[in-house]
Amino acid sequence: MTGIKSEKDIYKDLLPQLDKINFKQILWGEDLVNYKLVIYPQRITDIPYYNKISKYMVSIGIVYINPGANQKVKPISVMLNWSDREIYIEGNTLHKVWKYLRTSVQRGIDMATVNRKFIRIVTPEDILVTKYIKMAKSDFNKMLHLPEKGRMNNVSGSDPEKDYIYYYARDGKEYHDKDCEKIRNMMPETVCTAKSIPIGIIPCPKCQKMLYLRELCNPFYSDMKDVDRILTRGKIDEKQVKKLINNYGMRMHTDIDGNLIVLCNEDVWKIEGLEHESFSLWHNNYVRTGQSDRKKTSGYHIHEIRKTTLEGILKYISGYSFEKHLEAETL
Ligand SMILES: [Zn+2]
Repeated sequence: MTGIKSEKDIYKDLLPQLDKINFKQILWGEDLVNYKLVIYPQRITDIPYYNKISKYMVSIGIVYINPGANQKVKPISVMLNWSDREIYIEGNTLHKVWKYLRTSVQRGIDMATVNRKFIRIVTPEDILVTKYIKMAKSDFNKMLHLPEKGRMNNVSGSDPEKDYIYYYARDGKEYHDKDCEKIRNMMPETVCTAKSIPIGIIPCPKCQKMLYLRELCNPFYSDMKDVDRILTRGKIDEKQVKKLINNYGMRMHTDIDGNLIVLCNEDVWKIEGLEHESFSLWHNNYVRTGQSDRKKTSGYHIHEIRKTTLEGILKYISGYSFEKHLEAETL
């Protein structure tokens, strides 16, 4: 037994009052150690890649605990991107509850430490993603009552990442990824950009792989390195990546545990066990809404397949469709 009690146990008697509120899913502050809280300024649609993730969003509740109040356990409404465990929360809402929520997140960290469970965060502030907040670091810290020397290293006043574009020199013969060193060495005024592959020029051999990765990970560019490492390890080469993107519209990123998330057609998959190459494949949950219809719900279920290579799994995913699944069922 652990010396730290879960708030779910302490306050479970107060749950019936919460039931009235009817959230599909409720998360407690101590659960948040395995999530990221992405803060948006006013409207969730202000997130630059929102239209790409909106279909993975479900409305859920987070409860926070104010021991001094009459109603000790209170919920707030947030949006969960269930495909990668990112929770989107409005800045003012967080401002009001962080004081309470922080204590619960800290409890979650302490519980994990006592139980020797691996989590990726050290302080509660580590779960906050602040890159969409256009505010000086010191003002932000003040707003959340954080100490000036908090671990908030991802606060910046710069623009959030732009959507993907191609770069090329005005008289150049090649197009590049924005991080290509050839682009960095050019005079900014001679660099042109295009939303689609510029016609009549060829990809730069130096950054071709980066270009594919950027397309594959769009809009989660910060996961490019991890995805690259996973694909390299799985012996998936550039040519295969190109095929997965162009023929199947596949997208990838990684979750907070380093698992590979694969989006293909209408489905979301999670591949675990990458480090030991003993893969397990998870498939997004859904409920049947008719003979040949379904609706996605939050979370994953295990999907039994006999594949021992990453290549095999990706091939399986690219060939999966709900129609085929239904056909197989009626055979
Ligand atoms: Zn280049």
